[in-house]
Amino acid sequence: MTPRLVRLAPSLLVFAAGILSAQQGTGGPPGARGGAIVKDGEPCPPGMTEVRPRNCRAPEMPAPSIVDYRPRSTLVTPEHKVPRAKFPAIDFHGHPGSQMTNAAELEQMGAEMDAMNLGMMVTANNTSGEALGRQLAVVAASPKMKDRVRILAGIDFRNVGPGWAEKAVAQLEADVKAGAVGVGEIGKGLGLSYKKADGTRLTIDDPALDAVWQAAARLKIPVFIHTADPQEFWQTIDYTNERWLELGLFPGRRYPAELNPSFEQLMKERDAMFRRNPKTTFVAAHMGWHANDLARLGKMFDEMPNVNAEVGAVLYDIGRQPRGAHDFFVKYQDRILFGKDSYQPEEYPYYWRVFETRDEYFDYYRGYHAFWKLYGIDLPDAVLKKVYFQNALRITRALPQAGWPK
Ligand SMILES: [Zn+2]
Repeated sequence: MTPRLVRLAPSLLVFAAGILSAQQGTGGPPGARGGAIVKDGEPCPPGMTEVRPRNCRAPEMPAPSIVDYRPRSTLVTPEHKVPRAKFPAIDFHGHPGSQMTNAAELEQMGAEMDAMNLGMMVTANNTSGEALGRQLAVVAASPKMKDRVRILAGIDFRNVGPGWAEKAVAQLEADVKAGAVGVGEIGKGLGLSYKKADGTRLTIDDPALDAVWQAAARLKIPVFIHTADPQEFWQTIDYTNERWLELGLFPGRRYPAELNPSFEQLMKERDAMFRRNPKTTFVAAHMGWHANDLARLGKMFDEMPNVNAEVGAVLYDIGRQPRGAHDFFVKYQDRILFGKDSYQPEEYPYYWRVFETRDEYFDYYRGYHAFWKLYGIDLPDAVLKKVYFQNALRITRALPQAGWPK
């Protein structure tokens, strides 16, 4: 009997210790066997997880950090990779780099675009004047690419003060005359960092800028604008922040409250500017950073018929709500434009897969953006065509209008 008792003793001891620490509401250090009881609604202590209601436990092994935890999914489900878009797409949020000044690289980009069925690139690099002229010349000189790349004109928001508007409008008129097809991208610096000539922050709805928005209306060109950033960038960086890892990897993306206008302040200014210029067609980049709250974006669309949205870099939000996103895209099919943001040919097929398939639980291309998997939203062909190219062609009259599918 004695040996058996000896064998049992250690596990009895562990059991007793577990009860003891559970009763005291304290656990061992992370990784040690331990437990804790918490009150209703109270989180488990650090290092523990809830295993039964109000009953917390730490794993026996040391817990990995979120950087190292890479579970292999065992889900077996149909996969439909989509290397080529079903219909030719226009990238309304294009950021090619040296391709815009180097003829050989431009043609190489054309081959990459062919491979993924990207019909047209709208460059949103905020170029103007001579730089714009050089890029337009490179595009025009390429028989293969001359109808596949168009360029948005930039606005210089430095030193807004007396005389600024006249100069900015004259430059915009010259850029459009030279071949620019719209304005963009207006960067997030508008609202966050530009100062007026008098040293105060240039707000997005500053009346001094209205002359430019109204010039865009008069010239019948859209204005592509990126305002603010994901709202989590303004929040405390604790373990409840969805972008904790990203903010750790890219500390420059944080917006400490004492140094920056709030997310809501920027949204308020943007929307006031949209409302005050109803004849100007705007395209809000990144779905206005409301892809995580589609009802809010829907309300904007309802209240402001001059506002459209572009989907770049928010695929992680679209693909985590496949039913809601499907219904939203169907309802607002005339208001949403495809755009990718950074030019990485291998990343475009993730968009096609989310938009075109019913695939489930697949990886996003950038793990630090999203700790979750994506799902296809299975858009009907008529909606796909609008999102991929028809909406961009409609609001940007200077885009080549021939040769697209019916
Ligand atoms: Zn951009």
